[in-house]
Amino acid sequence: MKLLGLLGGMSWESTQTYYQLLNRGVAERLGGLHSARCLLYSVDFAEIEALQSQGAWQQATILLAEAAIALETAGAEGLVICTNTMHKLADAIACRITIPLLHIVDATGQAIRERQLQTVGLLGTRFTMQEAFYRQRLEEGYHLQVLTPPAAEQIEVDRIIYDELCRGRIRENSRRIYRQTITALVEQGAQGIILGCTEIGLLVSTQDSPVPVFDTTALHATMAIDFSLS
Ligand code: GLU
Repeated sequence: MKLLGLLGGMSWESTQTYYQLLNRGVAERLGGLHSARCLLYSVDFAEIEALQSQGAWQQATILLAEAAIALETAGAEGLVICTNTMHKLADAIACRITIPLLHIVDATGQAIRERQLQTVGLLGTRFTMQEAFYRQRLEEGYHLQVLTPPAAEQIEVDRIIYDELCRGRIRENSRRIYRQTITALVEQGAQGIILGCTEIGLLVSTQDSPVPVFDTTALHATMAIDFSLS
């Protein structure tokens, strides 16, 4: 079993989901007392969020690349960045390490392709919904049409992530807002919904959507297990 390097803490609320999914997944596949071989480098998310808000992406790259190098030096054989948003820096981090980076968009794109969908709705942080790094990889790599909510809804979706989900607050009213946003995307033509933030699965699941949901945390964890056991 290959040793996984988890770059987590963004936020730790979803990193614990990764840890659980990895261990459960390995136990299911190998049986008995088997569990995932992994190292976790968990950052202080307040530092990361401050850099995001300031647009200090170069500093964020230095910080996360140092963590990735530390994981590789400690023996990790594959890197799992446990957040969608910070995949904005994936290429810059990947070129500083020699182990493979298991990209969350590829885990997601492959799952959508298997379902043969063409148009998907994307929920995530403002960075993930608005910037090219995420959407472009889905559009160009997986030939998908990606729909995002209108600006006002994006602000709410983003606020709920940082003010609530990343702090472990799960609110019924926010679930209602996400459900409405999902319904509007489906009315626009979305055949599937990407839960493109690793905390969204803490709030909504398949039963909150009339179309299939693609939970990036679960898909990424499965990709990591496949890699580890390959
Ligand atoms: N975990 C989140 C994501 O998947 C948001 C936190 C972050 O900004 O990294 O995008």
